[in-house]
Amino acid sequence: MKIIETNTPEETYALGRKLGEQAKPGQVYTLIGDLGVGKTVFTQGVANGLLIEEPVNSPTFTIVQVYEEGRMPFYHFDVYRIGDIEEMEEIGYEDYFYGQGLTMIEWADLIPELLPEKYWEIKIEKDLEKGFDYRRITINVFS
Ligand code: ADP
Ligand code: MG
Repeated sequence: MKIIETNTPEETYALGRKLGEQAKPGQVYTLIGDLGVGKTVFTQGVANGLLIEEPVNSPTFTIVQVYEEGRMPFYHFDVYRIGDIEEMEEIGYEDYFYGQGLTMIEWADLIPELLPEKYWEIKIEKDLEKGFDYRRITINVFS
């Protein structure tokens, strides 16, 4: 387990970029944290680390957004609005999770039964006692 503390969005973005630079094909990152905590900021850093230039936002109307232009495919899931697991089956999530790109799953705690055996969990939390822009980012590697 590793804990990183950030005090600006730029620092969170830079951490994401570092993980994007290190990512290997087939890896899965999950992203846990409340609304407004910085999941999208972090994800944009990851995309930058993969050398993706098109803008990356939360996939609001689709569960998964695919970016093909970077160092490897980037499969960006946001499962916040998912109704049930069948929706994931319909998308064919396994082709992504077990594919040759980097998979990033926001709100992955909503689909625990679908997560692969190996993945990195990135949890972002606020602590208002430490300031409005403070974030504690905990990385757990499950393998
Ligand atoms: P989420 O995707 O988790 O809902 P966003 O990434 O869209 O959250 O928004 C996070 C907001 O918090 C942004 O407005 C960002 O500028 C702000 N922010 C302030 N401090 C930080 C920090 N240390 N890390 C990330 N975002 C921060
Ligand atoms: Mg978001």
